Amino acid sequence: NQEIQLVKRPETTPTDEHLKIIDTTMPKPGDGEVLIKTLYVSVDPYMRGRMSSAKSYVEPFALKEAISGGVVGQVIESESEKFQAGDFVSGTLPWARFSTAPENSIRKIDPSLGSLTASLGVLGMPGLTAYFGLIDIGQPKQGETVVVSAAAGAVGSLVVQIAKLYGAYVVGIAGTDKKTAFLIEQLGADKAINYKTENVGNALQTACPNGIDVYFDNVGGTVSDAVYPLLNDHARIPQCGSIATYNDPNAQGPRLQMHIVKARALIKGFIVSDYQAQFKEGLTKLSNWYKNGQLTYRETVREGFEHIPDAFFGLFEGENIGKQLVKTADP
Ligand code: NDP
Repeated sequence: NQEIQLVKRPETTPTDEHLKIIDTTMPKPGDGEVLIKTLYVSVDPYMRGRMSSAKSYVEPFALKEAISGGVVGQVIESESEKFQAGDFVSGTLPWARFSTAPENSIRKIDPSLGSLTASLGVLGMPGLTAYFGLIDIGQPKQGETVVVSAAAGAVGSLVVQIAKLYGAYVVGIAGTDKKTAFLIEQLGADKAINYKTENVGNALQTACPNGIDVYFDNVGGTVSDAVYPLLNDHARIPQCGSIATYNDPNAQGPRLQMHIVKARALIKGFIVSDYQAQFKEGLTKLSNWYKNGQLTYRETVREGFEHIPDAFFGLFEGENIGKQLVKTADP
């Protein structure tokens, strides 16, 4: 067996120096446990936070232990009455080729709800993040202007589409022309801005003639600096993430206070798990939209267990469109 361990905490950008593939023994399922072959691994920006020892909303990853996160796998041996060999399951599991898990820590995947990997994206954590952040905090109304940063990513690509379903005028910001084309052509965004090649402030002014009512922020940093001056009175900002600052301990915070005051805007940070009690409602909404073809779900899939670290590093280079996954084995 093999697993990927955090062997050193990154101070800035994580590299191969921090994540290592380690040979381990094959685990054996105990009573009430199953042995799982990992098929797909989700790599996520929030994991960068757990690599640091700083206090946060989840415990830091331990050094010299496997990283863990969203995984889809197949049961290959079961000591549980709830699962049989062959079942597809998802859960928070180690970045390992094989792992064991107690029966209560994993969920069976219902293939009628979507593809195997949908539980790591549109019907999982990213989907719920997009849905609750936008609907509960953003509260977009018909005809309002919604701006989304990291708009072509896992969360952002769903926010764009849900905002359209609520009748908003939607402007997405992303880092390549391929992504801006994807936002307009595939997701139905009204306007898209490439923050790496355009002056974001000027482009936003042109794209948002009626100002900005909702800013779903995934990135923070200079992109957000360009958004704040255009906030309308009583604008709402679901503060979902700030990936522009994750690798930079000296990053300047966005200069937002005066803009928040002037616009009497609401900015509210949230963690998707805040909405745990409503997950069922959120998943029903998302899976109905998905089944009816109202939500396009895009993935970027890298092949090979050994490429999990590279796929994770690639999130900070914008290599992914939609949800970044790594396929580690065939069923
Ligand atoms: P994405 O699929 O959006 O991948 C990250 C994307 O961020 C990249 O593709 C890249 O796209 C963009 N990016 C990377 N570096 C920068 C930078 N320096 N400045 C601007 N954009 C950058 O990831 P997720 O959808 O999984 O996550 C998006 C955000 O949401 C993250 O900040 C994450 O931490 C947060 N999050 C928060 C949750 C919560 O509960 N609050 C839950 C899940 C995610 P590009 O080419 O456009 O630069």
